[in-house]
Parts: sequence; structure tokens; C-alpha cells
Amino acid sequence: MRFLVACVGLYLCITSAVADPIALRGRLEQGGIVVGSVAPGTSVTIDGRAVSVSNTGRFVFGLDRDAKTSATLAMRTSDGVETTQVVSVGPRDWLIERVDGLPQNTVTPNPETVKRIRAEGGMIVAARNRTEPVPFFETGFLQPAQGRISGVFGSQRILNGRPRSPHSGLDIAAPTGTPVLATADGVVSLVHDGMILTGKTVMIDHGFGLDSVYIHMSEIAVAQGQRIRQGEQIGAIGMTGRTNGPHLHFGISWYGAKLDPQTVMSALPAGQDIPQ
Ligand SMILES: [Zn+2]
Repeated sequence: MRFLVACVGLYLCITSAVADPIALRGRLEQGGIVVGSVAPGTSVTIDGRAVSVSNTGRFVFGLDRDAKTSATLAMRTSDGVETTQVVSVGPRDWLIERVDGLPQNTVTPNPETVKRIRAEGGMIVAARNRTEPVPFFETGFLQPAQGRISGVFGSQRILNGRPRSPHSGLDIAAPTGTPVLATADGVVSLVHDGMILTGKTVMIDHGFGLDSVYIHMSEIAVAQGQRIRQGEQIGAIGMTGRTNGPHLHFGISWYGAKLDPQTVMSALPAGQDIPQ
């Protein structure tokens, strides 16, 4: 805390308490993740959205691929002192990626399939909207499978010649059956045996709005609701759903904002404590 003295004319001076800026760790950029600490009991918002704060004062937020170049962090302590901090968000450049040879019915699906894709997308959104009030993410994040990076986050995609949504995760290509591990501690929030686009699908809730998703798998080794430890096997690489070869698509999101898994793993690596 420091004090700001403002004087009006010759006589009237007002002294007010001004909180020091909060130290933030992580990556303040599109697709990035940021952790910070405040006094326990402080409430925090980022651009008006409430951010979960642990009982030790830890908080985390993510920045979407298309986040604006600045964001407003607002805090209110338990005794009512309010401060706001405007933070700059670094812009990123994205690749253009062409993917051919996908099953055509997954790129231009018929109306019946469109209905199923929507319903399945709704299940993923519902799983993202529930979150545990436990900061499981404090384990940090590890790469869930070993293999060749065959697709990066954020690329503008052209699938079978048609422009489609940007790539929302990281693709790791490896033979079918290669183990897939939980990136961090959490609770399994969704298991599906065969979605049209994502095939065999697992989601893990890491608490405080953070989720990871693992898709196109050949097998699933966990059940919905299961408490999972970082590094436990949750399935195996496969080529189920909309894919032209065996790979894991690995995604991380914060309340639905898509984050870059490579940024998250380098900003909060597994095995390193996040200092308060
Ligand atoms: Zn992918």
C-alpha cells in the first residue's frame, strides 16, 4: 500500500491509500494464462467476469485466442478498498493450416449429423460451465502424450478446402495406443465414447474454471466423476472422430476461453511450485 497526496489550490490536500499493482505471473498474451495473489477474502474480476480466489488468495485467469489488447483487473478487499489495474495483452500471429483427407461427412455434415454435433457441443459446454472450487491447477501442466507436434494452437484452418474455425488446441501425432496422461490434477468432467467431431473424448476439470480436453482417442481408461492425479493414464491415442490420422488433440480452456496449451505448459510447468 502507498499513499497518494492530491492538492487542490493552496490549502486543500487529500491523502488516499492506493494499493500497489498486483504482481502477475504467467503470460499476458492472447491464449495465455496468468496467476496472481491477493489478500485472502479479496474479490477479483477481469473485464467484469468474476475470478475464483482460493482461501490463500491465489487466483488464475486465461486470455482467449481473440482477447483484446488490454484487460481490466478489478479488486475489492474484504474491508471494501477497491482498485483497478489495466493490463496489456500481447497480440499473437497465427498460422494458416490446410488439412485435407478428412471424412467429408464431418466437414459438410447432413442435417441429422449437424443436430448431433450441436447436442454433443452442448455437452462439452455444460462440462466447461461446471467447475470445482479446488485449485487443482497448482500442480502445473505436463504434456499429456509424447509424439510429433502436428498442429499448433490458433491456426486459421482450411479443412478439405473450406475455411473453418481456428484450431483450438495442440495436436500430438503418435501411433494408435500411445498412452495419454492427465496434464494436471483434477476431476473427470466428461467421458464420451464417440462424438462425431471429437470421437472418444475425455475432459478434466482442474478447478477455478480451467479444463483440459483430450480427443480422437482409441480407448478411454477413466470414468466420469473420477478424481485424477497428474500423470495418470486416461486413455490412448487414436483416430476417432474428425481426423485423418492417429493423434491426440489436447485443449485447455478457462470458462470456455481457449488457451494455448504450449503457453500454459511453459508458464505453469509441472513439478514447479507457483510462488504466492
Ligand atoms: Zn487438433
